[in-house]
Amino acid sequence: MYKVDKRIITSTVRELCLRGAYTLSDDVWNAMTAAKLRETEPRAKSIMNELMGNATISAKGEYPTCQDTGVATIFVELGNDVAYNGESAAAIQEGVRKAYVEGFLRKSIQMDPLYSQTNTRDNTPANIVVGYSDDMPSDEMRISVIQKGGGCGLLTGFKGITPAQGKDGVKQFVVDTVRTAGGKPCPPVVVSVGIDSDGAQSMIRAQKASLRRIGERDKDPRVAAFELEILDALNALNIGPQGFGGKTTAYDVHVNQGHAHLVHRLVSVDIGCNCVRHQVATIKGQREKSQVFFEKPAEVPEISADEATSEPKKVTLPLDDAQIANLKMGDMVSLSGTIYTARDAAHKRLVDMIERGEELPFDLKNATIYYVGPTPTRPGNVIGSCGPTTSARMDPYSKILFEHGVKGTIGKGPRGQETMDLMKEHGCVYFAAIGGAAASAAASVVSNEPVAFEDLGAEAIRKLEVKDWVCTVAVDSFGKNIFEQKAQDLSSQKQVQSQIQKLIG
Ligand code: SF4
Repeated sequence: MYKVDKRIITSTVRELCLRGAYTLSDDVWNAMTAAKLRETEPRAKSIMNELMGNATISAKGEYPTCQDTGVATIFVELGNDVAYNGESAAAIQEGVRKAYVEGFLRKSIQMDPLYSQTNTRDNTPANIVVGYSDDMPSDEMRISVIQKGGGCGLLTGFKGITPAQGKDGVKQFVVDTVRTAGGKPCPPVVVSVGIDSDGAQSMIRAQKASLRRIGERDKDPRVAAFELEILDALNALNIGPQGFGGKTTAYDVHVNQGHAHLVHRLVSVDIGCNCVRHQVATIKGQREKSQVFFEKPAEVPEISADEATSEPKKVTLPLDDAQIANLKMGDMVSLSGTIYTARDAAHKRLVDMIERGEELPFDLKNATIYYVGPTPTRPGNVIGSCGPTTSARMDPYSKILFEHGVKGTIGKGPRGQETMDLMKEHGCVYFAAIGGAAASAAASVVSNEPVAFEDLGAEAIRKLEVKDWVCTVAVDSFGKNIFEQKAQDLSSQKQVQSQIQKLIG
C-alpha cells in the first residue's frame, strides 16, 4: 500500500473545484448546443443562447458560471494498492477550502443548521464518499467533484416504490419529481436516479450516476433504454429552458440500479441544473512520480448573448404605475436603474424590523428587490457573479413587503398562488432573470454599494445600478403568469394529441 502525497490531493481538489465553478465539461457544452438547435420557440432558443454566452464569460476565469457555487461532494475511488486515511480526508477538505477562499467562490455551508446557522466561511466541510474499486488500476486514485447548487439540491426526491408499481412506478416518480420542480432548478436539468434496498445507498447511487457524462448510457441495454424512455417523457412536459416552455426540460437521465428488498425499491432522484458541475481527475503512479490527469474542459467559442426574441421593452427603475400597467406577462424587458438585493435572511430581518416599527435601511416605496447572493467581488470588478435565486422561498415575506410599497421583484422560477394574488392586489410585477447566467448578469451591473446587514456576507442588502439587463415579465400586475401559461399550452397540446389518437385509433 502507498499513500498519495497530501499536497497532490489538495492541489487536485482545488483545481477541480475551480474548473467546476468556471468551466463546463465538453459534454455539457455539446448538450447546450444541441438544445439550442432543437428548440423552435424563440424564447427557449434565446435562453439557451444566453446560457452559452454566460459560459463564454465564465470560461475566462473571473466570474463563476453561477453565483451559487454549491455544496462540494467529493467521490474518491481507489485502486487496491492506494492507502486512504484521515490525512487524505484532511487534504481534500483543504483543497475545497483553498478553492473557495482563493477562487472568489461563494461560501454556502452553515454549521448548526437548526439554531445559529453559522457560515463556515470556506465552504467546508465537503462531503466525501470513498471506496475501493476492482475496476481501477491498483496504483490509481480517481477524484470526482460535484458542486451542487441549493436551488436544485432542495428538489431532490426520495420514495419507496412497491414491486407491483415496478418500473412504471419508478418512471412515474421521476416524472412527477421533475414536473413539480418545474422552473425552480434552472432547466435544462440532468436527472440521476438511484435504486437500492437502502435509502442512503439509493441517494449515493443517484449522485454517482450524476457523475456520468451527458449521453453516456448505462452498460445494461435494458437500463439504457429505460433512461431514454424517461428522458422522452421529461422532454414532453414542455417545462423547457427556465420553465418557460420548450423541448428541452432535461439534457439527460442516468439510472443506477443496485439491489432491492422483496417489498420495496427505494428510489432517489437527483436533479442537476443547467450548469452541471462535475469534474474528474486521476492521480497515477507512486508518490514521487505521481501525475494528475484532468478531464478536458470544453473549448468554448466566443458567442454573443444577445440573440433576443424581440426588441425588449425599456424599463426604468424604480417602477411607476404607468410602466407597471404597460408590462405584460411574457414581455422581454431591458431593466435600467436601481435595485436592492435581498435573500432569505435579509427578508427575515427586514420583516422583523417592520414588525418592531424600526426605520428600514432603504425606502421600500416603489422599490424593486432582486433575490440574489453574489459571489465575492474580485478587486477591480463591480460585483461577482450575480444570477437569481429561487423566488418562491421569499413568498412568505411578500404580503408585508408589498403592503409597504415594494413594486417589483426579480428572481427565478414560479411564485406561489398567494404571492401572485397579492401582486395583482398591489399592482406589482415579477421579473424572471435567467438562472445559471450569473456571469452575464454581472456585466449589467454598473455600481454596487452595501446598504445593510453586511454580517450576512453574500446575503447582505446591496444597492445595485443596472443597465440594459434583459429579463422576462414572468408575472404581471394583472395576475397572468408565464409558468401557468406553459402548463395550459401543454394541456391543450395533450387534448389535441388525445383527439388525434381517438380519430386514428
Ligand atoms: S443554475 Fe440555478 S439551480 Fe443551479 S446553482 Fe445556479 S441558481 Fe442554483
